[in-house]
Amino acid sequence: MLIDTHCHLDAPEFDADRDAVVERALAGGVEMLVVPAITLATLPDTVAMRERYGCPIALGLHPIYERTHRDEHVPQLRDWIAQHQPAAVGEIGLDFFVPGLDAQRQTALFTAQLRLARDFDLPVLLHVRKSQDQVLAQLRRFGIRRGIAHAFNGSPQQARAYVDQGLKLGFGGNLTFERARNIRRLAQSLPLESIVLETDAPDIAPEWAYQQRNEPAYLPRIAAVLAELRGLSLEEVAAATSANARTVLGLPLDS
Ligand code: ZN
Repeated sequence: MLIDTHCHLDAPEFDADRDAVVERALAGGVEMLVVPAITLATLPDTVAMRERYGCPIALGLHPIYERTHRDEHVPQLRDWIAQHQPAAVGEIGLDFFVPGLDAQRQTALFTAQLRLARDFDLPVLLHVRKSQDQVLAQLRRFGIRRGIAHAFNGSPQQARAYVDQGLKLGFGGNLTFERARNIRRLAQSLPLESIVLETDAPDIAPEWAYQQRNEPAYLPRIAAVLAELRGLSLEEVAAATSANARTVLGLPLDS
């Protein structure tokens, strides 16, 4: 059974058919969807995914929405975390790819949330885009040794540094593109213990759904690509990546 460690199931793209999306995923062998939050205003939607579908959730303020976040959102997020006890703090991080975002403000929001992860002893779900070294430096600074760098796309050296810090690296739809050589090479060569699977649905659709809505039911085919790249069976990849996800999120290993 597979775990989708990064699925925005609460996104409006799924409003029309969310139950069917979850059913298709379950029917295909995806036993669990981890749902990260993006803004303070949508935290109730994220929490609702746990109530309705039993999804582990992460609560946090996504760097892409830097202009939506207000300073007072951080203490409010702290209250939400205390009250709702998520599995992780996320989606948090730094995005130095998207133009027009304020790097300094992103960094302030990110470090404030790393402080929350440290205070609540929670893992982090990280958005890392053109910011691998900066994110890593902050993880070290705050002593964060548990989390997932989602949709990872750094150098082999950077990947190693994340693994050495105790982080898992998330691989998803990007793996399915032949031209994604860097990502495929990483997925092939990293220790299997450091890899988790994800879809990032409704974003980062795999090759067969290019420019369409992504959904968690595609995870088994993504896992099959990883299995082929590593010369393993699908069962071996499923067992290993699910155990990795459970370990990093502090979920029981036997259910
Ligand atoms: Zn995301």
